[in-house]
Amino acid sequence: MAKMRAVQVSRPGGPLEIVEREIPQPRPGTVRIRVQACGVCHSDSITKDGGFPGLQYPRVPGHEIAGVIDAVGEGVQRWKPGIRVGIGWNGGYCGYCDACRRGNFFACQTSMEVTGITYDGGYAEYVIAPSAAVAAIPDGLSPVEAAPLLCAGVTTFNCLRNSGARPGDLVGILGLGGLGHLAVQYAAKMGFRAISIARGKEKEPLARKLGALQYFDSQAQDPSAELQKLGGASVIVSTVTNGDAMKAVIGGLDAKGTLMLVGAVPSLEIPPIQMLLRSQSVRGWYSGTSIDSQDALNFSVQSGVRSMNEVFPLERVAEAYERMQSGKARFRAVLTMGN
Ligand SMILES: [Zn+2]
Ligand SMILES: [Zn+2]
Repeated sequence: MAKMRAVQVSRPGGPLEIVEREIPQPRPGTVRIRVQACGVCHSDSITKDGGFPGLQYPRVPGHEIAGVIDAVGEGVQRWKPGIRVGIGWNGGYCGYCDACRRGNFFACQTSMEVTGITYDGGYAEYVIAPSAAVAAIPDGLSPVEAAPLLCAGVTTFNCLRNSGARPGDLVGILGLGGLGHLAVQYAAKMGFRAISIARGKEKEPLARKLGALQYFDSQAQDPSAELQKLGGASVIVSTVTNGDAMKAVIGGLDAKGTLMLVGAVPSLEIPPIQMLLRSQSVRGWYSGTSIDSQDALNFSVQSGVRSMNEVFPLERVAEAYERMQSGKARFRAVLTMGN
């Protein structure tokens, strides 16, 4: 049997081990992808540290996968060897449960598949995935460019396009890291008046280069007051995991404004009186399914949105993971397989 290199975690909290495995064969309804690049996402810590119900070890992390289909299982429609594809967080859905029948594929009740968590992910030279999880990668995006867009990209793109904001609206983006630097670009390219809010004056030139009309340093300014001076934000997308930072911007919402959450904050304090007097809401946003990823990739080609990446070969996975965890990566860490 032919072998491949993969990076696995053998137990919760265990190290990232580079191992040799047999190249897996596609089962019915799945495709095999020769992985070219895989982003390192903060959510990979779920696989590394444990905590997802039913997570079994050993497990290969990675849900920002870009590569080429090299084999298809029985019964697979549409996808063929040679097609460039990607896979994100959503690892597939059944298509027949009530949630799926209502079009809420992300909330599938029967097969809660998450790439790199319920099945082996993209820190490997090959991956097997359900065909429902597969998004086509357009010409014009390299594997390294495509990979981070399959989680960080689609999450922010899909959140913004479903936020209710219309072209010309004021849209605040809280945070300027892996998610935030993409959200600012998407917001600007979608025709919103994008306002970047983060900590530290030194980030302003980058925020403006990415398309922000204005930048507020939350350490030196009151971001809620600054947003209100501009008329109030229709939408604020929070990409941070800090409840206090979110509390500091929520006063910047306009009437009927919405705070959209894409960063996993453990708990959040909201101002109910302000919210009821001004009909405001707080809403969580699920990343997206494969067709949302495909839309995000196509929009990125069309509009020139790109992730800023640090690239590491697979054997330097520990270093890449550490860069991501420390928050020092500018802005996404991406593994390449040499495939
Ligand atoms: Zn992710
Ligand atoms: Zn379902």
